[in-house]
Amino acid sequence: MACEHVDVLVVGAGLSGVGAACRLQQRCPHKTFAVLEARGEIGGTWDLFRFPGVRSDSDMFTLCYPFRPWSGAQAIVDGASILEYVRQTARAHGIDEKIRFHHRVTGAEWSSSDARWIVEVERGDTGETIHMACGFLFTCTGYFRYDEGHTPELQGVERFAGDIVHPQFWTEDIDYAGKRVVVIGSGATAVTLVPALAQRAAHVTMLQRSPSYIISLPAVDPLAGLLGHVLPTRLAYPIVRWKNVMLTLAIYTFSRRRPAAMKRLIRTLLARRLPPGFDVDTHFNPRYDPWDQRMCLVPDGDLFDAIGDGRASIVTDQIETLTETGLALASGSELEADLIVTATGLKMVPFGAIHLRVDGTDVDLSAALAYRGMQVSGVPNMAFAFGYTNQSWTLGADLTCEQVCKLLDYMDRCGYAACVPRNRDPAITGVPFADLTSGYVLRAIDQFPKQGSQHPWQREQNYARNWTSMRRARIEDPALEFSRAAPTANSETAFVARDIDVAVRADVSDETP
Ligand SMILES: Cc1cc2nc3c(=O)[nH]c(=O)nc-3n(C[C@H](O)[C@H](O)[C@H](O)COP(=O)(O)OP(=O)(O)OC[C@H]3O[C@@H](n4cnc5c(N)ncnc54)[C@H](O)[C@@H]3O)c2cc1C
Repeated sequence: MACEHVDVLVVGAGLSGVGAACRLQQRCPHKTFAVLEARGEIGGTWDLFRFPGVRSDSDMFTLCYPFRPWSGAQAIVDGASILEYVRQTARAHGIDEKIRFHHRVTGAEWSSSDARWIVEVERGDTGETIHMACGFLFTCTGYFRYDEGHTPELQGVERFAGDIVHPQFWTEDIDYAGKRVVVIGSGATAVTLVPALAQRAAHVTMLQRSPSYIISLPAVDPLAGLLGHVLPTRLAYPIVRWKNVMLTLAIYTFSRRRPAAMKRLIRTLLARRLPPGFDVDTHFNPRYDPWDQRMCLVPDGDLFDAIGDGRASIVTDQIETLTETGLALASGSELEADLIVTATGLKMVPFGAIHLRVDGTDVDLSAALAYRGMQVSGVPNMAFAFGYTNQSWTLGADLTCEQVCKLLDYMDRCGYAACVPRNRDPAITGVPFADLTSGYVLRAIDQFPKQGSQHPWQREQNYARNWTSMRRARIEDPALEFSRAAPTANSETAFVARDIDVAVRADVSDETP
């Protein structure tokens, strides 16, 4: 098939895709690449979500790219600032010119004899279906569907006279000033929305079936503020970044090792922050252990202030049905509402719903294992960027980008055309890709490849350890099968994959210069 060929095709122009393109340009300058983006804008998550108060819930010193340090002391920032940061990074590195908007990748077929992918692309602007070829496919497609959020079935929806909106589809014209708003949910989106809506609404009620763990952290990083006065960003940034990496890891590790102690600590901090007599045990005492689900962060306790001022309240109950004027609850009480916001979650989807095929056979992701949390067993020349769930996404996504560059460099130096991970160890079993028990994860995790029970198939949620091991690790690994390529007489671009060998070569260093 005659079509445009690039060495690397990056799919997605969000935080990960822009970062991947920057890394490729820096580390593999000889490689040709393009970025295909389904939407008309850069930024992914940070362009899509426009609900009041949308912000980061991890600090910007670790959410930013290491090659473009976040300056200033503000650690938790609004979505618009993150979007502008991603856009500026793309502009500064000339990546904006590499992005093809309105290009949705729907399928990709690998041919071992040609050692390339043929990628099917739907163009949203012209309605055409086009094809592109690439040597390596790098999906930076995030983890959720853009066209649908998760909304549980609500009885009596048709009776409710007010408006119902999912935060994923919030538009600027939604008027909540002076209205009684009920936010259904208890996750990161709900705890972000409640204090923001409470600034203009008559009252906001957070209606939760069960509580989440919520901790307050300063919106302005005190160390960044201090160092900002005495050191240039170049020196201050790595100190603040590593302080935050270690702090979040310490909170995570303590939560996993000493859940009862962490529960007590969170309860004590909450009781101090909430109004006297507040029923902490009903509204802030989850049924699960800390970090079984993502912990919610509120900057400077803004949620607790809204509750303390009486502008917001929390109800822990179940919805029986919607009525003309609000919600009837299982306890028998009723909540009056003019506007209901269903902060009930995302719909996860692996790799942008791209239909993958290898040599004519459909890839069954659910039966595959993820190698180092970035490649899929049995799928050649493909990687995916998936950040951490217990720390900033970018920490994990950027390590993957670095590792992909290292792999591409290694393959070039050794003359390999294809690399495919294969698990040959029967002792390694598959476990879910993410170990969170949140509803949105459990609903979809079976569609994702599994992680393995042991290294290198295990997806370790520890940036500090991964950072060290990825720098030291050689690309050669018995779990990676490399094959060489040789041009055939048939076509300029055709290759024959041959000399398949498990590369254990001591003579070639894989360290990137
Ligand atoms: C409200 C909200 C707040 C969050 N806050 C934080 C936070 O504070 N810290 C944190 O670490 N994480 C946070 N996250 C997670 C967040 O998604 C990541 O931080 C990060 O933005 C993910 O970037 P990404 O580029 O990998 O994916 P996305 O931002 O989802 O971008 C993916 C891009 O790929 C495109 N795409 C998808 N499929 C295809 C396809 N088939 N063809 C072409 N293009 C495609 C999409 O259109 C999109 O532009 C938050 C998520 C949400 C929803």
